Amino acid sequence: MWIFSNEIEKISGQPSNGDIVNIYNWKENFLGAAFFNKNSLISGRIISKNPVTDLKEFFTERFLQAQRLRNEFYPHRNSFRLIFSEGDLLPGLVIDKYNNTFVLQVYSYGMNANLNIICEILKEKFSAENIFTKNEPYFRTLEGLPVEDEVLYGKISEEVIDDGSLKFRINFQSAHKTGFYFDQTDNRFFIERLVKDKSVLDAFCNSGGFGLHSAKAGAASVTFVDSSAEEINNARYNYSLNNFNQPAEFIDADVFDYLEKCITENKKFDVVIIDPPAFAKSKKNLPQAKKGYEKLNRLALQVTAENGFLVTSSCSHHLSKEEFIQIINNAAQKTGSAVQLNHFNTASFDHPELPAMKETSYLKFAVVRKLQ
Ligand code: SAH
Repeated sequence: MWIFSNEIEKISGQPSNGDIVNIYNWKENFLGAAFFNKNSLISGRIISKNPVTDLKEFFTERFLQAQRLRNEFYPHRNSFRLIFSEGDLLPGLVIDKYNNTFVLQVYSYGMNANLNIICEILKEKFSAENIFTKNEPYFRTLEGLPVEDEVLYGKISEEVIDDGSLKFRINFQSAHKTGFYFDQTDNRFFIERLVKDKSVLDAFCNSGGFGLHSAKAGAASVTFVDSSAEEINNARYNYSLNNFNQPAEFIDADVFDYLEKCITENKKFDVVIIDPPAFAKSKKNLPQAKKGYEKLNRLALQVTAENGFLVTSSCSHHLSKEEFIQIINNAAQKTGSAVQLNHFNTASFDHPELPAMKETSYLKFAVVRKLQ
């Protein structure tokens, strides 16, 4: 839970940024212990409903609680998002686990001030061999934190992870985010049900997750498209790492241009997957972003075969599920076809949402069938 700066009536004492402070309401009832940061609009991030006396012990229990959830859902996996910030009641801390390499994103002053404790726990309880940060500067700047990344323990080296059935090489130096999009893992397994013997387009493929799962499930052919040459190379590498042998194309191109080209050439796919980066980075540019999503979904539907599937995602937190479905419907109407909503989902189980905090929800994943 967050406490905004304009909600604070008075501050007793002189807490420093990153300190744990006790929060009281106007009746002087204790509400919880929070990380304090006077630099940020989010001046308090509640970490516990009870006073916290031993932070290491407190964090250890929260970390183990987070790990228990992952072990329930993914008992045979060594790589997943171990900590999803507010969703795991650890505000401003993301930890992705790649075997014994732990990649952190630290977006609250309090977490940053306690990185030594976090590293100790990862070493003592989670057998960490490497720990480093891969932050997005935008969120660090909001908190008034330096943007430089740090190696906190061990070194930065490649990992080959297993997502539960396939292998991915992770090159942390060049990769986006912490190295891998764990949030789409469950959805990649879902699409295995629709792709057998089909032609599949994996647009915005990054390291190739959706296309690789399509190949595994017996797709007739897979076309990977991404505008990053490095990511296309990763997808190609991962394709051979998993020993697939059906026809595959790897195209370094802008997806909008590629779809336009397919339309001109009347080229269609049985399954079209689009997974773009967030178009709406803030609430202010939501109207513009909606237009972008509508255009992308319209183009994608135009290259989807009759009775084929469009698999479409949005990771913009500011766009609601209802708005997203509406956009898909508008796009369909503009192409003169109807769509059936066959499946809807959010992020994987290692990205738990708090019903009490809508900010923990961001990914929307829809599968629609194109009808005449
Ligand atoms: N589907 C991926 C994740 C996609 S992340 C997975 O399952 O892992 C978004 C990707 O879109 C990034 O790899 C980025 O390089 C790519 N991208 C961003 N804008 C693009 C554009 N206009 N055309 C093609 N690729 C783009």
